[in-house]
Formats: sequence, C-alpha cells, structure tokens
Amino acid sequence: MTATHRAGYVAIVGRPNVGKSTLLNRLVGMKISIVSRRAQTTRHRILGIVDEPDAQLLLVDTPGYQIAQGGALNRLMNRSVIASLQDVDVVVLVVEAGKLTPQDMQVVKLLPKGKPVVLAVNKIDRLKDPAALLPLIDRARGLYDFSDIVPISAQDGTQLHHLVKAVKQYLPEGPALYDPETVTDRSERFLAAELLREKLFHALGEELPYAATVMIDRFELEGSLRRIHASIVVDKPGHKAIVIGSRGEALKAIASRARKDMEQLFGGKVFLEVWVRVRRGWSDDVKALHSLGYD
Ligand code: GDP
Ligand code: MG
Repeated sequence: MTATHRAGYVAIVGRPNVGKSTLLNRLVGMKISIVSRRAQTTRHRILGIVDEPDAQLLLVDTPGYQIAQGGALNRLMNRSVIASLQDVDVVVLVVEAGKLTPQDMQVVKLLPKGKPVVLAVNKIDRLKDPAALLPLIDRARGLYDFSDIVPISAQDGTQLHHLVKAVKQYLPEGPALYDPETVTDRSERFLAAELLREKLFHALGEELPYAATVMIDRFELEGSLRRIHASIVVDKPGHKAIVIGSRGEALKAIASRARKDMEQLFGGKVFLEVWVRVRRGWSDDVKALHSLGYD
C-alpha cells in the first residue's frame, strides 16, 4: 500500500491581532524550509513551508488582505482579496477564543465560496475554563459552514498538529511542490521585508498611503547576527512624514516590532535600520519598479 501524499496552498486570514503572524511563525518554526521563489501555479508568494512525510503545506501571502482588514474596505479591495483567495486550496480563518467581533464578521464575508475553510480558534491559553470554548464554537458554526474548527494556541503551540492535520486532508493529492531542503538567504530577505511591511500596515492602518512598499537594501549575516538595512518607499513627502511620525515615534515603533519578529523567526539577533525614501510615482512607473527590484 502506498501512502497518499498531498500538497497545496494555504492562506491564513483574520482581522488584526488574532495571532496570524504568531501562527505563521510557529508553523514555519516547525518548518523544514522557507523559500521565496514565486510558484508557477499561483500568484501568491510563499511565506513558509510545513513539510511532513505525507503532506506539504505552502503558506502563502494573500495580497490585499492586510489593507482590507485595516478598515479601508471598499469594493475594489474586496474584489482583490477574494481573487487572491481564489487560488489557494485551503483557507485558515483565525479568530480569538472568547471574542468574535464585527471585524471578524467582515472577514467571514470575504471568504471564498466553495473552498474549505478551517476555523482556528486561537489564544486558548488565555481561557480560564476550557468549557468557555463551546458557546463560541456553536456561534461560529452558525456563521459559516467551516470544514473544521480547531482550538489552538499559536503562542505555546498547543494543538497546532491538529490544525495541520485538519488542513492537510483538504489539500489535493500530489507530490511535494518545493524541495524542502531549499533554504536561501534570499528567503530571509524576503521574510524580513514581509515582516516590516506588516508592521507598517499594523501601525498606520487607514492612514497608510496605498503606495508604500518595503525594500531590503542590504542583508548581511555576521555569525548569528543579521544586519538588515531596509527602506520604506513612499510616493510623497507627506507620506514620509506620516510613516516617520512626530519625533520619529511611528517609525521607531514599526522598526522595533519588525526587529523583534525577525529575531524570533530567524532565531538570532537582528540589527535593523529603516529609512523612509520618497520616490514620486513609483507605484505606476514601470521603470521605477524595475529599479526597486520588482519584476
Ligand atoms: P496578527 O495581527 O493576526 O498577525 O496577530 P499577531 O500574531 O501579531 O498577534 C497579536 C498579539 O496576540 C501578539 O501580542 C501575540 O503575542 C498575541 N498572541 C498570538 N497568539 C497568541 C496565543 O496563542 N495566546 C496568547 N495569549 N497570545 C497570542
Ligand atoms: Mg500579523
């Protein structure tokens, strides 16, 4: 008898602060490898791989989600979010134990039809009484036809193997899509940019200029220390002022949160320097995009 192998793309979605990044880091921490190559079958970027003997989960970025959940929900964004979820095989929706908010409902509304959605009820370590989970699970069942509901703690790792198991069963049968041995420093570079971008979105929410991006200018490994020079590129001097904040507070907070996450993810000290650069019209200028390293 040959065992079935499965492989596919998994998106982790949910409103801010439910623990998506913690979950991603934790899963990637159990990981075998991280790659940054763009897969041919998807327009998603791969943030991490969970590689097990019988399955490979490719955790992907879903562009647009961060903006949509920041509150700037408009039709266009909704469409792009829905489209970005269209090519994944499984969606994991993360909510907080004991707390379903209107923002969670907004995310539920954006879930793609006809796709397995596994509900991860996170932060169960905070519950004094595990029985408190039951009413929440009941309520969640009434909201959406979830394929599975798994209580977890992304922080301490509780039940994560159950989550992986639940997700696995909905992946298509097939061989591993990535070589699990591939670990490149380009991928750390890529992840560093993602983490910084995420903190930028978190900190500025709706205020954030749409035309803001993150570039990693230098990434050097000295022993276990990573020296990272990054730029946040914006369209207008006014945007630069927003990102920096009064007396540099906003930028300082963004960089410090990003650095902490990077240290956790890379498992070593990170020296992070972040600059804000103004590049007029970068977002619609193809040449500028090329010079910034976009294909
Ligand atoms: P995201 O905005 O959805 O990516 O959420 P984050 O991963 O940034 O987490 C938001 C906050 O929740 C952070 O302070 C995390 O440390 C915390 N957090 C995440 N997962 C857990 C968990 O399982 N238990 C507890 N107690 N806190 C958690
Ligand atoms: Mg996050």
